[in-house]
Amino acid sequence: MNIVMIGLGHMGGNMALTLQTAGFTVIGTDVAEVARRNMAARGLAVVGPEALPAADVYLLSLPSSAQVREVIESSPGLLRQAPKGSVIVDTSTSDPVVSRELAKMVVEAGLEWLDAPVSGGPAGAATGALGMLLGGEASTIERVEPMLKAMSARYTHVGEAGSGHVVKLANNYLCAAHLLTTAEAVALAMRAGVAPEACLAGLNSGSGRSAVSEVNFPKWVLPAAFDSGFTTGLMRKDLRLARDAAAGMGLSLDLLSRVVEQWHANADALPDSADFNHVTDEILRLAQADGATSTQEAGQ
Ligand code: NAD
Repeated sequence: MNIVMIGLGHMGGNMALTLQTAGFTVIGTDVAEVARRNMAARGLAVVGPEALPAADVYLLSLPSSAQVREVIESSPGLLRQAPKGSVIVDTSTSDPVVSRELAKMVVEAGLEWLDAPVSGGPAGAATGALGMLLGGEASTIERVEPMLKAMSARYTHVGEAGSGHVVKLANNYLCAAHLLTTAEAVALAMRAGVAPEACLAGLNSGSGRSAVSEVNFPKWVLPAAFDSGFTTGLMRKDLRLARDAAAGMGLSLDLLSRVVEQWHANADALPDSADFNHVTDEILRLAQADGATSTQEAGQ
């Protein structure tokens, strides 16, 4: 199977190398010359974005639907350039409404479509251990199954085109909310004199646990590592997409609106470029302020 990887950033670059190591023929491209150079230095064949070769699969890992639309419609324009029967797989976290529109155009042009957003970060992409949510035809999934197996630890077909992207937004909404709620839960325990590590151990043995309490806090928040490879800007984009998707369907979700608001509240202190786990900073700082008094109170 010949694969062209479009977008060689944190995720796409690692996916391309994983697939190459697994034995697929992979050629990568990116609008950023530095990204192409980096990947060439790591042994990937790269081409400029206007020189895409014919392939069985065009695998996209791009910032948002705007770039996915551009790549498909105009520059380089996969609708015109991709050979009939080839498959476009969008692993970006994209707007499901746009994905459904693009999927229709792709199928009308004689190509096949799969939305395949991922979880697991750059580390999951580098080790073929991603979680993937698939939207599209079962027959398309069957065609690209060897590639999906090489990239992921688990993939789940959740429905027709666009469904993978809807469920990905639902997933990221929960992750964003869990970062806030888990930080508040840890702050509550810290104020009462409980060490955050002990609090986490307790939460992870109970029904309040989540991937955030089991992975994000021990790996990135408590050791102040903040090198997850996923930025606050990307999470803000995903939250806006989730809010807009709900609004577009006339669905009023109060808590979702408040989570979106809180993630956008402190843009000066928390720039888009910051690791997304930094959203817990302000809440955990609250726990430390006046901590001595509160600890004494807790002991009374
Ligand atoms: P990134 O910014 O590191 O990489 C995106 C790459 O796309 C960049 O190298 C950029 O130059 C390139 N690009 C932009 N426009 C292009 C175009 N028109 N043609 C070719 N290349 C183009 O982003 P990332 O962290 O790799 O994320 C990619 C996607 O995966 C996003 O949609 C993100 O929401 C999603 N995602 C990221 C993570 C993560 O942990 N980083 C996890 C899950 C999902």
